[in-house]
Amino acid sequence: MTGRIVIAGLGPGDDTLITPQVSLAITQATDIVGYIPYVARIEPRPGLTLHASDNRVEIDRSRHALEMAAEGKQVVVVSSGDPGVFAMASAVFEAVEAGPTSWRNLDIQVLPGITAMLAASARAGAPLGHDFCAINLSDNLKPWELIEKRLRLAVEGDFAMAFYNPRSKSRPEGFARALEVLRKACGDSRPVIFARAVSTPDEHIDVVPLTEARPEMADMRTVVIVGSSQTRIITRNGAPIVYTPRSVLP
Ligand code: SAH
Repeated sequence: MTGRIVIAGLGPGDDTLITPQVSLAITQATDIVGYIPYVARIEPRPGLTLHASDNRVEIDRSRHALEMAAEGKQVVVVSSGDPGVFAMASAVFEAVEAGPTSWRNLDIQVLPGITAMLAASARAGAPLGHDFCAINLSDNLKPWELIEKRLRLAVEGDFAMAFYNPRSKSRPEGFARALEVLRKACGDSRPVIFARAVSTPDEHIDVVPLTEARPEMADMRTVVIVGSSQTRIITRNGAPIVYTPRSVLP
């Protein structure tokens, strides 16, 4: 059998948010590769081997997946959300670029998933309804100075912003610094959405003005969305609606 490697996104958590295309690829797989909590979402069955690995071994994991596909296996590499957003698709292509030329002839497909910022945005209203950007706040793979520079420029460009990997136990200081940079650069009190574990039983959404945003409100299961200067809040009983209008008037 000709090998195949599919890099699939499992969405933010709820199984109903997995696309039928991804579900089909999983039913056809012989091998599933990925970070432990994502592989744990796959139902075991006879004929399917689950290869769960720790975080931070993305290139090794990719090579392993490519080697198995080259042996003729039907490999699915799983990511949460979308596999192209701060996830495995780039890691697999880095391994392909550095690997044997035969890997370039493999059947490789990327299947999209619902990324965290879109699931969070839908819960809050439509904060990403106008121009926006996504920034990974982890400085594991890039220098902190670059993160600060991008934050300042995103504010200058008046983008709404979505922050992935905002705060971890090993990097408790970064997000506090990011909030400081934002408060200085924005000079106003725009809405900040802390969306934790969206679409899971642990989901929790908080909307606060930037002046009241505190570092402890975020962890590694949170995506943080900061509005642009145009972002508005409709207050109502129950949860507020946060949205950014479609147009900016001249
Ligand atoms: N590929 C993933 C992102 C991986 S980076 C995607 O497209 O969503 C991991 C970060 O994603 C987390 O630190 C968090 O910021 C965010 N994230 C993933 N799932 C989430 C969820 N269900 N709710 C809130 N944030 C989530």
